[in-house]
Formats: sequence, structure tokens, C-alpha cells
Amino acid sequence: MTYDYDLFVIGAGSGGVRAARVAANHGARVAIAEEDRIGGTCVIRGCVPKKLMVYASRFADDFADAAGYGWTVGATRFDWPTLIANKDREIARLEGLYRANLEKAGVRILATRAVVEGSNAVRLAGDGRVVTARVILVATGGWPTTDERLPGREHVITSNEVFHLKEQPRRLVVAGGGYIAVEFACLFAGLGTETTLVYRGEEILRGFDREVRGHVRHELEKRGVTVRLGDVFARIDRGPAGLSIATRSGATLAADQVLMAIGRAPNTRNLGLEAAGVVLDDKGAIVVDEESRSSVSSIYAVGDVTNRVNLTPVAIREGHAFADTVFGGRRVTVDHRMVPTAVFTTPEVGTVGLIEDEVAALGRAYDVYRSTFRPMRHTLSGRDERMLMKLLVDAETDRVLGCHIVGPDAGEMVQLVGIAMGMGATKADFDRTMAVHPTAAEELVTMRSPTARIPARNAAS
Ligand code: FAD
Ligand code: NDP
Repeated sequence: MTYDYDLFVIGAGSGGVRAARVAANHGARVAIAEEDRIGGTCVIRGCVPKKLMVYASRFADDFADAAGYGWTVGATRFDWPTLIANKDREIARLEGLYRANLEKAGVRILATRAVVEGSNAVRLAGDGRVVTARVILVATGGWPTTDERLPGREHVITSNEVFHLKEQPRRLVVAGGGYIAVEFACLFAGLGTETTLVYRGEEILRGFDREVRGHVRHELEKRGVTVRLGDVFARIDRGPAGLSIATRSGATLAADQVLMAIGRAPNTRNLGLEAAGVVLDDKGAIVVDEESRSSVSSIYAVGDVTNRVNLTPVAIREGHAFADTVFGGRRVTVDHRMVPTAVFTTPEVGTVGLIEDEVAALGRAYDVYRSTFRPMRHTLSGRDERMLMKLLVDAETDRVLGCHIVGPDAGEMVQLVGIAMGMGATKADFDRTMAVHPTAAEELVTMRSPTARIPARNAAS
């Protein structure tokens, strides 16, 4: 049987673009279909525009902190339309680069929605044409979820819309306590928006180390974010003065915009997957093996649509590994353990390895090294912001099992700590490393005595 293509990729986001490019470089005839803009969530409506907005939000601190260093900063004013226009220009530039790189590799780009029509066929929604391929890669990513039963849900925006608001909201209410909710609550507060975060649980950032969670919430509150824990929206109404949010606990909140950031669902709806025999899990994610192969041997999936670790570098690595394995004659798998990650709040979070609850659950003795301190910059700025550093160390093997940082440049630091921990670094290796002085990161190699030593017999409790 001859096919139109060796590989057909559905979705030109982080994972799909990398897989298409690498497969083409291995000599495969590749087509990629994209129904929206090339680049996907990360470039168009995720990591990149978000980080640009985080940078914008941090200037307020710089202006205020300068006084302690002798500077007089004149009147400052933030202009939302300027930020949005400049951000849009940068996103368009990046989209152009992604497109050019695909074209350079010889990948055929089809600007259309595509759905699976069988184990080796794809239907193009644009003209209804069916094309065939030896291998199909589904890289359709995810989509924000909203609460279907919430009265007034038509008034909310998600992270998709937040990047295109015509005006900066004067008052913003955010629902959720995960990455997106806390990042946007923090950045809008930095831009001067009166911000409230409503989270159903007892502490924000579930899944992160418990001390990190408390520390970040406390810092957000110091920056003026009102955090309402143990509460959820009951209904939203629009009136002459804007939006009114009634919460289950009986509070009424006023807002110009309401941002729902309560998670994302894999993009598998109406994709023809079930009819083709592709097994999905209970969240709608494509079930794949360690080579990213689905239950149908010619259909693979990478990135958020598989709901493994929903981060850009992971989607890229999965796409690359797939292309090397299937078209490069070299089996490559992705290790999903020990993925470093950052939350771009201010101060930001950087984390890699196990959190303390996970270490405790191992049932082994472990040491906790913890330090909280005021970063040197804030001695003269006078800002009341503290940094947290925490290392979790296996008491028997001395291996560093987890590293958790809250503070300026935590994301940058944890990228490098991730290399050491991936190589199996011990606490003695950290201690042997000469400090870089004066930095905040030197604390990682100068914490000498454990703050707590948890014996094995108590570890599992
Ligand atoms: P995507 O990048 O979502 O790409 C999927 C593509 O498929 C999309 O372009 C979509 O239009 C297209 N598509 C879908 N269905 C079809 C179809 N039927 N036919 C044709 N095309 C289709 N991760 C980080 O690592 N760091 C961050 O700082 C970070 N910040 C984020 C901020 C926000 C607001 C969000 C929402 C996410 C963020 N992420 C971040 C997560 C990151 O964006 C995703 O993990 C990553 O983009 C997943 O890549 P992907 O290739 O799986 O899917
Ligand atoms: P998350 O899964 O991180 O967080 C969802 C939040 O919404 C949780 O706090 C959850 O609470 C809460 N929630 C879920 N359902 C409801 C409900 N019905 N009512 C009220 N609250 C609810 O999702 P996000 O949308 O924040 O982000 C999606 C993913 O994108 C992230 O997990 C991450 O993988 C990626 N991302 C990465 C970033 C980065 O690397 N810096 C930045 C942004 C996104 P509970 O904890 O109680 O379940």
C-alpha cells in the first residue's frame, strides 16, 4: 500500500511541530494540519505571552525598590494597549519562525482542522479531502475547562481570552489555585488591578511542597492579592456596575472580568479517535505506551493530549523522541520523572524532584534543609519579601530527592539543580560545590545542618 505521506501530524503546537520537523529531517514525507495559528498554546496563548506579561508586572517593583538605592523615579503610568500590541507583534514574529522552520524542513503545512478517519487516514475539514499516511501523530493539546453548571458562566473568560482584553480590568476575580490562576492573579495585581483569587481547597498550588504553597500564598497576599480559600463560585450576574460574583460561602465580589483557571482538558472531542479504535482514559486523554503509541499501532500521540506532564518542554521532548524512534531508526523514550518546573508568580517558584509528602511516603529516614531569608536586594529596597529554599535528602544514601525554591530567579536556578539531581547528586556533592558570592543561590550549597531529621519509623505516618 502506498500512502500520501509517511507521517501526518494533527496540531502544530510544541509537540507536533518538533515531531514534524525531526521526522522530515530523517527523510520522511510529512504533512501537518493546524486549525488555528502555528505554534500552539505555548507560543500563541500560553507560556510566551504569559511570561511577557509577567515581565511587565515586575516593573512596578523595580520602580518602588529603586528609592532605597538613591533613585528618584518620576511619575509612572502603565498602558495596557501598548503592552498588548507589543506582545502581539512578538507572537507574530515567533509564529513566522515556527512556520519558516517547518517549511525549511520540507513539511507540508495545511491550514485546516483535521480528524482521524481510520488507522491510516485523515479527513481535512477545509475541503473534505481524505489523505492517507503510514503513521498519524495526534498532537492536538488541551483546552481550558469551565464549570458547565455555573449560572452566569457566559460572563467568564479563560486564559485564551485574557491575552486579548481591550482594556485592563480594574477589578479581577480569578477562580482556581493551580499554575494559571496564581500566575495571572499575581501578574494582574502587579499591573495595578484589584485582584481576588477564589480557590476551593485549603491551600493553593496542590501538588507542590506544602511549605512552598503557604509561602507563595503569603507573598501573594503581601502583594495585595486577596486569597479566599475553601470557597467556590455559586453564580455570576452582570449589572450596570459590572460583574457580581456570589460565592458558596455567602460572599459577593465585584469585578470587571472573571478569569476561570480551573484546569484544562485534552483536545480529543470529535476527532474520530474512538471510531478508529483509539482508547481514551476517563479524562479523555489518549492512552499511550512509553513510545507514545496508542492502542492503534499506526496512531501515536504526544503532548497535553496524552495528559502525562503538561508542560512545553515535555511535549517537545515527546515529539522528538517519537520522530527519532519511528523515523530515525533509534529508540528513544522520555523520562517523566524529575521534571523541573517553575510557577511564574512574583516571587517565582522553582521545583524539581519529590515534595516532602512524597519523600515521607517512601517510609525512609530523610533530612530537611530549609532556609528562609530576605534576598540581599531587599536590604536596601526595604521590600518585605522572603525567599524560601528547601532540600530533601535521603538520610541513608545522602541523595538529594527534592529541591524547592521560592524567590527571584527560582526558575533559572532549578533548571541547573535539575542537572545535578538527574545525575544523582548527593548532599555531599552540593556541599563540596564552591559558593558563588554574593548570590541567593549560594544558599543551596551552604545549608550545613538539617532543620529536621525525620526517622524511618515515623516517615510513613
Ligand atoms: P498545543 O501547544 O496546545 O498545540 C496543539 C495544537 O493543535 C494547537 O495549535 C491547536 O490549535 C491544534 N489543533 C487542535 N485540534 C486540531 C485539529 N483537529 N486539527 C488541526 N489542529 C488542531 N508550559 C510550560 O512549560 N511553561 C509555562 O510557562 C507554561 N505556561 C502556560 C500558560 C498558559 C496560560 C497555558 C494555557 C499553558 C502553559 N503551559 C506552560 C503549558 C504548555 O503551553 C503546554 O503544555 C504545551 O503547549 C503543550 O503542547 P502540545 O503540543 O501538546 O499542544
Ligand atoms: P491546574 O490543573 O494546574 O489547576 C486547576 C485548578 O483549578 C486547581 O487548583 C483545581 O483545584 C481547581 N479546580 C478544578 N476544578 C474546579 C472546579 N470545578 N471548581 C473550582 N476549582 C476547580 O490547571 P491550570 O488550568 O492552572 O493549568 C493547566 C496546566 O497547564 C498546568 O497543570 C500545567 O501543567 C500547565 N501550565 C504550566 C505553567 C508553567 O509551567 N509555569 C503555567 C500555566 C500552565 P484542586 O487542586 O482542588 O483540584
